[in-house]
Amino acid sequence: MDLSVVIPIYNEETNIAALYTRLSGVLDPMNLRYEFIFINDGSRDKSLQLVQNLAARDPRVRYIDFSRNFGHQIAVTAGLDLSVGEAVVIIDADLQDPPELIPGLYQKLQEGYEVVYAKRRSRQGESAAKKATAKLFYRLLASITHISIPVDTGDFRIITRKVVEALKQMPEQNKFIRGQISWIGYRQTYLEYDRAERAGGETGYTYSKMIKLALDGITGFSDVPLKAATYSGFLVSAVAFLVMLYTLYARFVTGDYEPGWASLMVSILFLGGVQLIAIGIIGEYMARLSANVRRRPLYIISDTNIPHSPANQALAPTAEEMAQAAAPPHH
Ligand code: UDP
Ligand code: MG
Repeated sequence: MDLSVVIPIYNEETNIAALYTRLSGVLDPMNLRYEFIFINDGSRDKSLQLVQNLAARDPRVRYIDFSRNFGHQIAVTAGLDLSVGEAVVIIDADLQDPPELIPGLYQKLQEGYEVVYAKRRSRQGESAAKKATAKLFYRLLASITHISIPVDTGDFRIITRKVVEALKQMPEQNKFIRGQISWIGYRQTYLEYDRAERAGGETGYTYSKMIKLALDGITGFSDVPLKAATYSGFLVSAVAFLVMLYTLYARFVTGDYEPGWASLMVSILFLGGVQLIAIGIIGEYMARLSANVRRRPLYIISDTNIPHSPANQALAPTAEEMAQAAAPPHH
């Protein structure tokens, strides 16, 4: 298998037919052995049925149906886990990532790169708030991490089998795949593209999912927030110490003091705020720590047509089990 195309799906019934047509239109002339892996991430519309219909007509169409919505990063992870291609493309289902860029990405990979990511030159049809928060986030992240995570880049990219295998060795529960791929290293490069509007339907990335992704990216790749909490603790304590000295001086030396309601309120509120922020930051890291200690599976597959999926192997006996059953008893 030369190429696997991993496509996470969450309520994409309006886009699946067009996506399939455009993708096969681009891939067929490339003369590769390829597979599509659609991951249905708990869609509430007809997405699964549409994908299953495609799979019935085209044996290159593989699907994984999750037992519920596990989120975009986990859906991509499942696709990577079960892909077999020598190269793997990760692409959104809503045609915001143009399939026409794939030959260019593939071409670059042949030049000896292990990762070719697609960098957004412009973005259409997204709210000013989304663009501004995304822009701010990528820059903040770049400034507080040691590894260089490229700015204005989503998960649309092509990676080699080597990178997929490295990703599979990273067991973290809170995935930030683009960060993990930067962390892995090797030779990486990019192509620029103009990000189109969503073809149909609406975004599955709610603000709460975006905040989770942002926090996963930051906590997964930087300890700066924890250190910032410590440093601001020192800073606030230093200021508090000076104010304490001044208070004692005013009380006992100059005798010039007022019942200080305003200053009391301000310092209590300020200290309370700083403490809550610091505890919150620690909590974010703690929550991720405990998720990694629990070591739950990242996702549960309810149905798939991929034969080598563990979900299918659980049902069908393995070759080893069959041999054991056929062998005569020992006694
Ligand atoms: N997606 C998913 N699970 C989710 C949300 C989104 O698998 O919980 C998929 C979605 O179907 C699409 C891709 O992830 O293929 C990107 O999502 P979307 O286009 O909604 O995000 P946006 O482009 O608005 O950031
Ligand atoms: Mg989109």
